[in-house]
This record gives sequence, C-alpha cells and structure tokens, in this order.
Amino acid sequence: MSKSKDTSVASHALPSYLDAEHLGPWGNYLQQVDRVTPYLGNLARWVETLKRPKRILVVDVPIELDNGTIAHFEGYRVQHNLSRGPGKGGVRFHQDVTLSEVMALSAWMSVKNAAVNVPYGGAKGGIRVDPRKLSMPELERLTRRYTSEIGMMIGPSKDIPAPDVNTNGQIMAWMMDTYSMNTGATSTGVVTGKPVDLGGSLGRVEATGRGVFTVGMEAAKLSGMNVQGAKVAVQGFGNVGGTAGKLFAEAGALIVAVQDHTGTIHNAKGIDVIALLAHVAKKGGVGGFAGAEKMEDSAFWGVTCDILIPAALESQITKDNAGKIKAKLVIEGANGPTTPEADDILTDKGVLVLPDVIANAGGVTVSYFEWVQDFSSFFWTEDEINARLVRIMQEAFAGVWAVAQEHKVTLRTATFIVACKRILHAREMRGLYP
Ligand code: GLU
Repeated sequence: MSKSKDTSVASHALPSYLDAEHLGPWGNYLQQVDRVTPYLGNLARWVETLKRPKRILVVDVPIELDNGTIAHFEGYRVQHNLSRGPGKGGVRFHQDVTLSEVMALSAWMSVKNAAVNVPYGGAKGGIRVDPRKLSMPELERLTRRYTSEIGMMIGPSKDIPAPDVNTNGQIMAWMMDTYSMNTGATSTGVVTGKPVDLGGSLGRVEATGRGVFTVGMEAAKLSGMNVQGAKVAVQGFGNVGGTAGKLFAEAGALIVAVQDHTGTIHNAKGIDVIALLAHVAKKGGVGGFAGAEKMEDSAFWGVTCDILIPAALESQITKDNAGKIKAKLVIEGANGPTTPEADDILTDKGVLVLPDVIANAGGVTVSYFEWVQDFSSFFWTEDEINARLVRIMQEAFAGVWAVAQEHKVTLRTATFIVACKRILHAREMRGLYP
C-alpha cells in the first residue's frame, strides 16, 4: 500500500505538541466528540476537523513590573474552527491556564456558537498569570502587550475576543485601544464585553447568567420541577454565578450554598443574594459573609439542593464527587465543569445536566448583538436585547431537547449533534482550498 493511502496514522495521532498524559480538558472534549460521531451521518467523514484546532499561537508576554524587574508570562490564542464565521471567544487570565485548556475552551466555543446559531467559529485566549498579584498599571501593560502579540490574528472580521475568567470591561477597553492604536483606526468591533460608553452593549455583563437562568427555567418546566422554593447551590459567584443566583432568587428559589476561591457558605433557609453580591463586590469573594455559615469546601457537592450551578472552572464535577450530588438539575454556567466519567455517573443517577455549550451561551449571544450594534453604530435598548436573548436561548434549547428525545441521548450529546452538524456542513460546503 502506498504511504499516501494510509490515513490511519493521520487519523489517530495526537498533535505532536500534546502527549496523552497532558491532554487535560482537551481530552474531555475529544471524548465528547467521539460520543457524537455515530450521529453525524455522512458528515462523520469530516469529524477529524473538530479534533484539530485550525490555528494556535503561543506568545511570550514580557512586562516591566512596578519594582523595575522584567516578568515574562505565557499567552495563547487558539482558533479552533472558522468554518461558520470569524473566531469568537473570551480571554482568560489565570495562573493555571495551559495550552490544552485554551484548546478545549476554543473548541467548546465552536460548538456553543453553532448551537445557538450565531455566525461565528470558535476561539479562545489566555495568559498564564495570577492577575490578583498585579497592580492596575501592571495589568494594563500585560493586557496591551498580549493584545499586540496576538494582533496579527484578531480583528473585527477575523477573531473577536471577549471577557472570561478574571477579565472584564476595563481589560476589553485596553484591548480595543491597543488594537486601534496599532492599526490606526478606532475599531470597536474587535472585542466584545466593552464598557457601554465604548461601544459595549447593554445587558452584556448579565447575559451569561441570564442565559443560565433562562434554560434552567425551561428545563424545570419540561421536567416538572417547581422553581418556587427550590434549593439552589452555586459554585463561583462572579459574573455568571452571581447573576444566575440573583435571578433564581427573584423567581422564588432559595440559594442555600455558595462556593468560590475564598470558601464555602451555607444557609438552609436561603442566603440574601443582594447582600451577598454587595459583600463579594467589597471583599472579592463569599468568604466571611455574615448571613450564612462557613462550610467545609469538600462538603459543597453533597449539599441538599434541587439545582446545582457550577459557574467557576472546568473539571470540578469528577468521578470522585459526582456520586454525592443530590441535585436533580445541574446547569453548567462554567465551561467544561463536568468530566465525561462524571457525566455518566450523573446520567445513571437520573440527574438532568444542561451542558455548558447551550447553558452558558447567553454571553456570546449578547456579544454577537454587541458586534452587530458596533458595525451598524446603532444601539438597542436593554429590553430589546434581553427579549432577543431569551428568544434565542429558548428556541435553541427547545431544538436540543427535541434531538435528545429523538435519539435518546443526553442533552450534551444532543447539543453536540446539532452544533457539529452545522459546523461540518459549513466545512463541507466551503470545501478544501487550496
Ligand atoms: N467567555 C464567554 C464564554 O465562554 C463569552 C465569550 C464571548 O462573548 O465571545 O462563552
């Protein structure tokens, strides 16, 4: 057999920059793709596309610290797939960021964007840094240098970053300014999640949490759960967990436990969410909140609740703690919070898992609205934005629910079926060129 006909090597080899032991979240993503492949019909011929990021950039980000020393940080931007449109996805600043993690996050963006049918591919970026250890001027220098280093890859019609873990509107403003200064034209559409006065969109900050709440309410309705009086546990009380918690409390649910990097708190009678949000804004975390009791971090997963919202980092629900979970509904506000083994344990227990790739898609949906508003320089009201967001989330969720029923698969596999078909159909129609 001639060498060119032997596709088995190309089909099975991992990229040389990752070995099997360091797959991390990318390994979880690959398993999710394997689970969907039998449902892709003729498009399965293209599935390998999903297992290889299109483009990876690793950059050195040197900055001068306030004390005069020079520090180097590792930065990444990964474009996983651009078949359906420009790359889209956030930028994460965290001390544990790795290439494998950014690859997985970029791939989940491809799936998420296709699941809610916004016209984007998937991308993600990150810097391996603990931003809490930097002063504001150091953080600004880091952001600007990183933006310059990835400048050749991003652009309003190429790849559009946004906030993610530990990044916010101020960081997006610096990214927008740096890109604009380097290209010589004010370019608001190069990032989303900007402050409203700089071409940002009303409703963007709350959008991910609002989307989590919207699909949670739909799932509760479909599975006969009464949200009024339901007990909710939330991991991560930032942008996503904080907003989702507030909306569930407004709908009559009791927020009984909250965990973040500063500790775990519990109050079976329900935590005053508005007071907790004020505490977090002041202290940087839930630790030390007077309106609840402190709880062991490891006890969080076994807490008595109906709804569990992991809204922090990936790989939090694992085979070691999935068995303890008492919730009937898990809504993934974070990206990749549940490992494939844990997913199986939850499914076997009859827990309904609303997967990240649909549940947290509200953020990128309003990012899309922001990008459209920037292009047209015409801005919408918050009511209009929220109404459009809710409509998109409800319609996408109903579609995924129907596919899950049809194939008798989990909502994660159903979302992957819908999304991967869209991505691979676009891939096939565009064809290989050159
Ligand atoms: N970082 C968010 C996510 O993981 C939003 C990305 C975006 O708006 O582009 O979905």
